[in-house]
Amino acid sequence: MYNKKVVTRMAPSPTGEFHIGGMRTLLYNWALARHFGGKFLLRIEDTDRTRFVEGATERILSVVRDYGFDWDEGPEVGGPHAPYVQSERLPLYKKYAEELIAADKAYYCFCTAERLEEMREAQKKQGIAQTKYDGHCAHLPETEVQTLLSNNTPHVVRLRVAKGKEITWEDGVLGKVSFVSDEIDDQILLKSDGYPTYHLGVVVDDHEMEVTTVMRGNEWLPSTPKHILLYEAFGWEMPLFAHLPNLKEIGGTKKLSKRHGPVAAVGFLEDGYLPEALVNYLMFLGWNPGTEKEIFSLDEFVKDFTLEKVHKADLVAFDRQKLDWFNAQYIKAKTDTELTQLLFKYAPKGADIALLSKITPLVKERMKKLSEFTDIASFFFSEPSADKTLFSENAHEHLVEAKSVIQEMKLFSTTSIGEVLQKLVGDKKFQARDFFMDMRIAVTGKKISPPLNESMEILGKDVVLARLAHAQK
Ligand code: GLU
Repeated sequence: MYNKKVVTRMAPSPTGEFHIGGMRTLLYNWALARHFGGKFLLRIEDTDRTRFVEGATERILSVVRDYGFDWDEGPEVGGPHAPYVQSERLPLYKKYAEELIAADKAYYCFCTAERLEEMREAQKKQGIAQTKYDGHCAHLPETEVQTLLSNNTPHVVRLRVAKGKEITWEDGVLGKVSFVSDEIDDQILLKSDGYPTYHLGVVVDDHEMEVTTVMRGNEWLPSTPKHILLYEAFGWEMPLFAHLPNLKEIGGTKKLSKRHGPVAAVGFLEDGYLPEALVNYLMFLGWNPGTEKEIFSLDEFVKDFTLEKVHKADLVAFDRQKLDWFNAQYIKAKTDTELTQLLFKYAPKGADIALLSKITPLVKERMKKLSEFTDIASFFFSEPSADKTLFSENAHEHLVEAKSVIQEMKLFSTTSIGEVLQKLVGDKKFQARDFFMDMRIAVTGKKISPPLNESMEILGKDVVLARLAHAQK
């Protein structure tokens, strides 16, 4: 299957934020190229001007980098097939469209929007659900075509699709796939604004850029027979097509939904997921190594990943809890210094880095996402306001006594705090559970917090006394 250097590509459209599913597809393309020592290309498909979003290209490139990926050819890095942005390649598509016209594989169509609308309405009335172009311009006399062109009559270029043909390919993931050409419309290749459609743009560029393997989500499956017809019309060698499963929410039937959390790749980073954890989780959305091993570095994945291991069944469940698990593993694996740097973003503005570095080891084992730090650690940065109903009925006595023994302490360390409070509980015959819960609520404002004695040491004696005094009231 791979007799020449593998060249894969990712070809996002700048129509919004880059989707997490797109990042999975990118990962697979990137890894396959690395696996075979080939090349991975990035190309921006911005030919749909109605859906173009200003700044989207820059955001795509930046999130791809933030997830840890690079590209061998593409925007910003250049390469032998530059430019890698389709709107900068318009003359090329025009040239190829004209080539097809000259060979009678495509034709000019001058139908107006109104005519097409009437045509569709009429077809619907006849009960045709999937309306198709009726071929009105498919056989216009050459002289008429020339007159219309010289009068600058608005027009598109359409592919001449032969009827009654079976279009079959051996998919790199799905195996044999076939469509009948009768289902396929005379595709528009070049639009009246001079931009190519996705179909022409993608085929011309994959050919020009010597892409050997077109790996993309299953939603593109119906486009592939159209592309195959184009390869045939041009007489070009076909790449290997490989269609990957799409993602869905657990229990859902279609795509990911914002109701369950982020769907944009950048949203997961903002939420405090580490790129390494995300990438590790993405590996499993359509592939598995056939062993119990779950933690994979990119290098390990690259070694193992081949198309033969990609799942055929569509719609892989995106398990957000499993992602949390991966993220917690990667948070725990960070050194305290690394983690402190990462948590800075989630601490209050101007937070002291020395203070942060003391807090880090206390929270490291307790976070599924870095963003949880803001809440877990808030009591280190500002006085908490505890809900009165959380305290036990003996809270007043607990806090008064604790305050008085703490006041006497010279050395205020985790160990000495522990000893002094234990002794107090023994001497006064307090219910240990209630006592320590009251202490925890007074100091941290919550029933669940990082280890209490350690936290008190970090806060310091004065702050702790002030909080106990405050809580007493
Ligand atoms: N421009 C298409 C997209 O937005 C590319 C699809 C393909 O990979 O062919 O995803």
